[in-house]
Amino acid sequence: MLRGASLRVTRPRMAVLAAAHDHPHADTNAIIGLVRDELGEVSHQAVYDVLRALTGAGLVRRIELPGSVARYESRVGDNHHHVVCRSCGAIADVDCAVGAAPCLTASDDHGYALDEAEVVFSGLCPACVAALPSASPLPPA
Ligand SMILES: [Zn+2]
Ligand SMILES: [Zn+2]
Repeated sequence: MLRGASLRVTRPRMAVLAAAHDHPHADTNAIIGLVRDELGEVSHQAVYDVLRALTGAGLVRRIELPGSVARYESRVGDNHHHVVCRSCGAIADVDCAVGAAPCLTASDDHGYALDEAEVVFSGLCPACVAALPSASPLPPA
């Protein structure tokens, strides 16, 4: 993948790419931890630099979801969206609703040539729904 993007293959780049691939939506700190597990001591700055290079080359996508730090994933180029749990912050991928960007048609494009709409679905994940106190508990049998 690195060679395909004309990036020099280095161990930190391979480790960061693997971390983003194996742990979708990991944040920078999680990626630093994963890379250190793999390579030993690596500076924050080195990981930031690699993330910037990989994002710039389109191998990694940086996402910013409401109420969350920046996260990274290796699933790129498919305009997929995210569902976010409002309670615990769990994140999952959902395919693009219509199959291609911009996905949504603006009610008024103001003459802009629009090519992207950021779609984030929010609500409660199944685990948080299950943990809700039931509004009407079943009577004891
Ligand atoms: Zn949740
Ligand atoms: Zn994703």
